[in-house]
Amino acid sequence: MIEFDNPVRSLTRSISGSHILYLYEDLRHYVESVASYAMTCLNQGHQILIIENERCKKAIQRKLAENLIDENLEHVHFVDNFDFYQRHGEFQGCVTRTHFEAVMQPFLENHISIRTWAHVQWKPQAHIHAKLEEFEVMADCSVKEQNLISVCAYDAKRISASLQTALMRSHEYLMTDREFIVSGLYQDAKAERVIHPSMLLQEKLLLEQKQLLIDKESAERANQAKSEFIATMNHEIRTPMNGVLGMADLLADTPLDQNQASYVEIIRQSGTSLLRIVNDILDFSKIDSDREVLLEEPFDIRECVTEVVDLLQVPRMNKNLVIEVAIEDRIPRMLIGDASRIRQILINLLGNGIKFTERGVIAVSVSEITNHGSEERKRLEFRIKDSGIGIPREYWRKVFQPFYQVDRGLKRNVEGTGLGLAISKKLVERMNGEIGIEPSPEAGTTIVFTLELKEWRNNG
Ligand code: ATP
Ligand code: MG
Repeated sequence: MIEFDNPVRSLTRSISGSHILYLYEDLRHYVESVASYAMTCLNQGHQILIIENERCKKAIQRKLAENLIDENLEHVHFVDNFDFYQRHGEFQGCVTRTHFEAVMQPFLENHISIRTWAHVQWKPQAHIHAKLEEFEVMADCSVKEQNLISVCAYDAKRISASLQTALMRSHEYLMTDREFIVSGLYQDAKAERVIHPSMLLQEKLLLEQKQLLIDKESAERANQAKSEFIATMNHEIRTPMNGVLGMADLLADTPLDQNQASYVEIIRQSGTSLLRIVNDILDFSKIDSDREVLLEEPFDIRECVTEVVDLLQVPRMNKNLVIEVAIEDRIPRMLIGDASRIRQILINLLGNGIKFTERGVIAVSVSEITNHGSEERKRLEFRIKDSGIGIPREYWRKVFQPFYQVDRGLKRNVEGTGLGLAISKKLVERMNGEIGIEPSPEAGTTIVFTLELKEWRNNG
């Protein structure tokens, strides 16, 4: 940090035109800044015109009344621009400029030394960025031509990082709350001897910070594009696929010879499996994109496990497998979480167990483990152990990647997309848990995952 002779202190005294952009971050601060700026200007023998909406105007007037004698208050003028802009619909730079010049006219004609403060606000609308950039360049020229000193204040939250950077590049003075307070534009005894970095250094730091925000913005935009693509794909593939399947169903009910019937059956099977893949991909990207908000509802964990076992009765019985369930007694009956997503994880894991096991037992157990993070949240551990073909150790990480299936040559079970474990992993992580494969001396696969769930207390 460099001690710097306050560069803006001279600014309020300067006669040449200066256009200051001020990005405020909170409204309370903002009101203080306007009041302080007005007092600074009055102390220096200027009058001040504040272009402001009704609500802020009242707050500023209150602040000024606390600090100024009535005589001084006469030199503070207000104009409501917000109503004016709203009436004009879209934000238009030239309309705003004409309005500003008209408002300034009487002061300039009477050679009154006047400082201005404008709160720039607009309705949400398209292409505002380009318009604001253009407007600010225009305002800059106008202020300089007329030798004014004027502050344009913006709500920082409503300006994107890229616009902030563009404005910073094209303006001599662009300040944030903190910078404004340490500048000479702000009159406060406590702020008299503030050490602050030079404008150059500030600018450099801000630029770096803004660059990070720009990167974040573009990543968000890319993500948005991805989501939109997937939503489109959802519609574009599912709709015709449903048409194909519907027609195949109708066709199957018409008189067909044996060959034709078997072709129709292939169409139906391929269509159904394609639709399943599309649904899995959609589900995966939905969870991936964090658009999916998990529910927080009371549910019965034992019921949840039983439902999954019931749902898988048919494939289980087809293979004569046994499913054993053990849930620790001390686990509360009701927990809070997203039961259907937990079911989905269990269906994937138990489904795999059945799919990759030819004989024996699939054991599901749920136990509570100590949660070091929090008392209120329970940490449950689920263990799904089968006696099937197992997964070679070198694939233990890979099987959790999307579309990864262990290649078993001719023996390989071709059913499935390879998304079940990837989806389950995402879901488990969203519930603050972990998933992995546990080594075991016996043949088969043991998958273990944990979840963090709140205990439900019925307080009335
Ligand atoms: P999908 O779940 O999308 O229908 P899938 O079951 O092939 O397809 P995953 O559930 O992600 O996909 O599993 C990935 C791969 O991991 C499987 O193809 C299989 O090779 C292996 N695998 C998963 N679970 C087991 C298991 N219990 N026993 C043996 N291999 C398994
Ligand atoms: Mg699977």
